[in-house]
Amino acid sequence: EAAELRQLAELESVTLDGVRVTLRANVDLPEEADLAATSGAEGVGLMRTEFLVVGRATMPDEEEQYRAYARVVNAFGGRPVVIRTYDVGGDKLPVGGHPTEANPFLGWRAIRMCLDEPELFRAQLRALLRAALHGDVRIMLPLIVGLQEVRDARALMAQAADELRARGVPFRDDVPLGMMVETPAAALAADTFRGAVDFFSIGTNDLVQYTLAVDRGNAQLAPRFTPLHPAVLRLIAHVVRTGGEMGIDVAVCGEMASQPIMAYALVGLGLRQLSVGPRSVLAVKRIVRGVDASEAAQAAQAAMAASTAHDAERILHEALDRAF
Ligand code: PEP
Ligand code: MG
Repeated sequence: EAAELRQLAELESVTLDGVRVTLRANVDLPEEADLAATSGAEGVGLMRTEFLVVGRATMPDEEEQYRAYARVVNAFGGRPVVIRTYDVGGDKLPVGGHPTEANPFLGWRAIRMCLDEPELFRAQLRALLRAALHGDVRIMLPLIVGLQEVRDARALMAQAADELRARGVPFRDDVPLGMMVETPAAALAADTFRGAVDFFSIGTNDLVQYTLAVDRGNAQLAPRFTPLHPAVLRLIAHVVRTGGEMGIDVAVCGEMASQPIMAYALVGLGLRQLSVGPRSVLAVKRIVRGVDASEAAQAAQAAMAASTAHDAERILHEALDRAF
């Protein structure tokens, strides 16, 4: 089976009925860049940047960040590399310097912290704009719930560009800016971001957590963490449809996409870009190449109409078993 998977690396990610599904890798550490680049992935769909701050006493400066980002971008030649701005807080905590909160997942985290700490955020944005000279960098904002956050982030990005210009440091000023759709608010009001973002990437880890009110890290609740709940499927379908109407790319970069049944459901829901851990890329490609997108679409429609996550899962499993 390992040999079969290796062969897959050379083959295109396309369904039996000819639908291309772009597969990218999630990268948590710059050291994973080479593994990801040889994983068969067509770029990076999510580079998390929390490694720069989690477990550290001091924040990294612009130079250190620039080197870390450039390393990943260089490993991928000219292929797209989506880098997410700090998603600190919640389950990703730095040493010290962070307030104790009763509900960290509903607290001062991610884009909220970045907008409240503009110096820190602009240093990251400057490093990203500089790293973008090395390839096809796209910047992504986490935990967006409303348009104002995107507008504020864009203003800080323009300011970061001005700072680099004033210093005479080379950078790219046409870097696409996209957002994670990982809150029910962003998903339901996806159309309100028209013209403000260049792409959507659905983060299913948090979207499931916030939609079902189930802590993603609580082992006792694991059986209740059901990405195939009809509410989640409908939110995803809504984002796919809205992104299509807006003419922007919609990807999924949550862990959901790495499980065969979930990958199948996502292709059926109309996703054409998935990003998974580097070690899951080929397994997902195997699913993509073995299924018919139109059959997956029918199964996904039926799953969406199911009354329970359990029923949705059964419907999708039956359809996937017929394919394999
Ligand atoms: C997600 O929420 O699905 C996601 C991809 O981001 P993270 O797991 O880093 O929160
Ligand atoms: Mg998330």
